Amino acid sequence: MKNFFATPLYLGRLFGIPIRAHYSWLPVFPFYAWAIASSLLPRQAPGLTASEYWLLGFITTFLLFLSVLFHELAHSLMARAEGLGTGSITLYIFGGLASLEGQPANPSAEFKIALVGPAANFVMGTIFFLTAQSLSKGAAEQVFRHLGLVNWFLAVFNILPGMPLDGGRVLRAIVWRFNKNFRAATQIANRAGLVIAVTLVVYGLYFFAVADKVIGLSSVSLGVMIGLMLGTAEGRNYGLWRVKRGTVEDVMNRDVVLISPQMKVADFIDKVLQNNRDTSFPVAEDQRLHGMLLLEDLKALPREEWAKTQAKDCMRPVDNSMFISARLTVPQAQTMLANHPAHRAVVIDANGLIIGHVSLNDLRKAQNGNASTKN
Ligand SMILES: [Zn+2]
Repeated sequence: MKNFFATPLYLGRLFGIPIRAHYSWLPVFPFYAWAIASSLLPRQAPGLTASEYWLLGFITTFLLFLSVLFHELAHSLMARAEGLGTGSITLYIFGGLASLEGQPANPSAEFKIALVGPAANFVMGTIFFLTAQSLSKGAAEQVFRHLGLVNWFLAVFNILPGMPLDGGRVLRAIVWRFNKNFRAATQIANRAGLVIAVTLVVYGLYFFAVADKVIGLSSVSLGVMIGLMLGTAEGRNYGLWRVKRGTVEDVMNRDVVLISPQMKVADFIDKVLQNNRDTSFPVAEDQRLHGMLLLEDLKALPREEWAKTQAKDCMRPVDNSMFISARLTVPQAQTMLANHPAHRAVVIDANGLIIGHVSLNDLRKAQNGNASTKN
């Protein structure tokens, strides 16, 4: 299952929250556009050319993507309002599956954070319906009507009371509030999720056969996905939404300059140092850290050696003080880096691959940012 949850595509930041899209969007984009362009629109709004249908198909899919983003953003901003710090969003197909870590401290916070996602889709759907209403009959009107339907569908689907859906978290929050037992409440919500998964697959197949193919297929894949997530410990932990309490990955710098071990010092000084004001550079091959090149070490190297010395000959070989895990929390990383002489480190993922770098300064800034959003 590890690869299924593999590192998603980084898109950028919104409200300071890192946004990523899971690779499952790559096949979904053309497939969904195809379904709109070849089935829905020609049926509901005949008379356009094939390329016009395809264009509308891709626009529809993009607006669907934005709807999912809006849903997750609502969770993250509510989480932030509840004092959970900076969130991190990963968009999965048909929404709901955003990557986070940590757990709200009380039922009321969990209730609010979970509920606001489906609420966002309900609002978005209503806006799309009103837009469709204001348009004259035609393809554009059909697109907005469809998006209104899909958003209302997402709202209803996500509020279904079973894990790992938002509704499952709402259910857990309610049970948790009454029995004061988080574990027991989670078990109940998990079992409800299993019932929902099976029901979605069965009804999805039925829908696919006799009614709408898009809704039918979506329903089956959603059911399968819920089943998969409930069926693995990793999936259960992953959850549909979780809030990252500011890990290193959330605050690190992604544009890290890596030096090849074979690079000549002369080339390094000409090509790399010209454009960078850093005082230490990670030496790496295939994203794996081999050591650090420090300017203070280079200063000791006679000028005539520059052309024949390679980075690997004058770097400091890798040791534990040079890298930290992307999964560490900001406070944990702060403690570590405070004791490092350079006050900065390369960030590595769970597979030991370099994904960025972070300095004590970055971490302090992130801490202050969190503190100021708490009120
Ligand atoms: Zn959600």
